Amino acid sequence: MEQNMGVLMSSKRVLACSSAENAQDLAPAQKRLRKDADPVKPAATVIGTKRPALAATRAPLSRPLRAAGAATVAAAPSRGVIKQSVASAAAKGGNMKQPVASTGTKTGGTQKRNPWDLKGKVSDMEDKVRNYQMKVKTLNQENEVLQDSVSQSQRKMVQVEKELQIQRSQIGEYERKLQVLAGVQDELEKVLSDKNFIQKELTNLEGKYKVMETLRDSQETELQTLKMKLSVQESTLARVQANLRDSEEEVRSLKETVAQQKDEIYAGEMERRRLHNTIQELKGNIRVFCRVRPLVGGGLPKHIQLATSDNKAITLAKTEESHTGKTADTQKNYNFSFDRVFGPRTSQQEVFEEISLLVQSALDGYNVCCFAYGQTGSGKTYTMEGDEFDETRGVIPRAVQQIFKAAGKLGEQGWEFTFTASFVEIYNETLRDLLYTGKSSKRPEHEIRKTASNEVTITNLTYERVTNEDQVLGLIALANQNRSTAQTAQNDRSSRSHSVFQLDIEGVNAGRDVKCKSTLCLVDLAGSERMVKSQSQGDRFKEMTAINGSLSNLGIVIAALANKESYVPYRNSKLTYLLQGCLGGNSKTLMFVNIAPEPDSFGETLNSLRFASKVNDCVIGTATANKK
Ligand code: ADP
Ligand code: MG
Repeated sequence: MEQNMGVLMSSKRVLACSSAENAQDLAPAQKRLRKDADPVKPAATVIGTKRPALAATRAPLSRPLRAAGAATVAAAPSRGVIKQSVASAAAKGGNMKQPVASTGTKTGGTQKRNPWDLKGKVSDMEDKVRNYQMKVKTLNQENEVLQDSVSQSQRKMVQVEKELQIQRSQIGEYERKLQVLAGVQDELEKVLSDKNFIQKELTNLEGKYKVMETLRDSQETELQTLKMKLSVQESTLARVQANLRDSEEEVRSLKETVAQQKDEIYAGEMERRRLHNTIQELKGNIRVFCRVRPLVGGGLPKHIQLATSDNKAITLAKTEESHTGKTADTQKNYNFSFDRVFGPRTSQQEVFEEISLLVQSALDGYNVCCFAYGQTGSGKTYTMEGDEFDETRGVIPRAVQQIFKAAGKLGEQGWEFTFTASFVEIYNETLRDLLYTGKSSKRPEHEIRKTASNEVTITNLTYERVTNEDQVLGLIALANQNRSTAQTAQNDRSSRSHSVFQLDIEGVNAGRDVKCKSTLCLVDLAGSERMVKSQSQGDRFKEMTAINGSLSNLGIVIAALANKESYVPYRNSKLTYLLQGCLGGNSKTLMFVNIAPEPDSFGETLNSLRFASKVNDCVIGTATANKK
């Protein structure tokens, strides 16, 4: 390509030179022509064809000719001879100066001819013309050469253009490739950055690897140690396993022994129940205990005498003064005997010991009913509830304590107990829930109902599930609060109402498929004192009638049961109706008769003792446990 361009450039330069009029400028071109390999064509044909064009284009040349004389000049072109001589001269040697020098006249711009030397002038002119013709010829040749060169160049140009086109397309191709390569470079850069990143990571990992290696080494050591330990442990384990097998064998035989012993214990427990019940029956299914309250100031009252030989007799002595005064005062003794008589110094603990056997019966599945009978102030509430201190606690809290304790022990033999407590007051033959905690205006009414299984329940009554002693003590406190709100200073209602605490006991021995159900009733009866009829009017009379009615009915019911009468008037009073399940054939009954030691209570004491001994005389049919 560069070569072509060079050719193009040189030809352009030649063209520029050809247009110059200065003869000197033509010299190089002439030199070139001489060097040219192509032989110069005959001058005659060239000049002949080119002359008119030359005359027309070379205006400055014709001007000096015209100045010399138009006629001469005009003749010159028409003469083919001159033209020929000039052409031949040129052909012979190209030295145009030779013919001029031969004339002996001065030619060129330096030497002027004389005005008259027309011939010389013509000769000069002719020289000039020859010169020009030579020049023209040369130029024509040069032109041809140049045209050749141009056409050659044009061909070359076309070729070059083609090549250029090819190269352009190649360039396009290359550019595309370059673009691709740029993409590749981007990719390469990315790959490089990735490589750097990976290399960093690799370094990082190598570091980690080293750490891991050290760790592995240390762990291998540890593993070795552990393996050693393991083998030691394995041998120990084998030993232990052998021991374990021995132990298991032992446990199996022990379990068998335990099961056997459990059976024995259960059989023993059943035997204990049977014997316990036999003892209770021998003691009597209805028992009456008499308890004498101590005198307020201490000491023993004279009219009450307790037997020293046993704890069963009590004598009430009354000295009757002689009406006449002549005879000595007579003393009338009323002797009573009960299952047990407790003197004024007997502690709550001693009293409870006797009852605790019955509490055990309740857990064994027998219904137990315990009453406190006596005039107001004789110590019924003290006996049943007692005071808040441990030593002075009465029958109810002690019984509850014993029940939970015994239930816990029976639990070891597979017994599970549930306890339900209720506390009801019977006043004027009306029931009142002592565990009620709602608004007093919304107190519900209660009815005694018998279920299909002949169990007695009270409608709308609070039956509280209890699991421990404290809960029961809380209920007793609530009951006392309920009772005290109902009474006024003038009307000590608690003494004119019965309060009945009931604990329903349900025991299940799932392992032996045995159940038992019983009720422990602890009743603080209304004061048994009788009022002088004239003093009792209105509400008091009503109260008195209600109390007397229910207490005497209690006596009648017990007597009927004792006599095994076919009809027992339970329904005659709310109290006996409520306690129906706990009285009679299937139950154990204990009555406390509390007596006041004051002499002015003599009459009431005598009445109480008479009532109690009537009950005591009854023999209630042998009880059977409520087993299912
Ligand atoms: P009741 O309930 O029969 O009306 P209480 O139990 O309220 O009689 O007894 C009347 C009073 O006598 C109470 O202050 C009580 O503390 C007291 N009391 C009763 N029995 C005894 C006793 N055995 N030892 C000491 N104090 C007693
Ligand atoms: Mg009382």
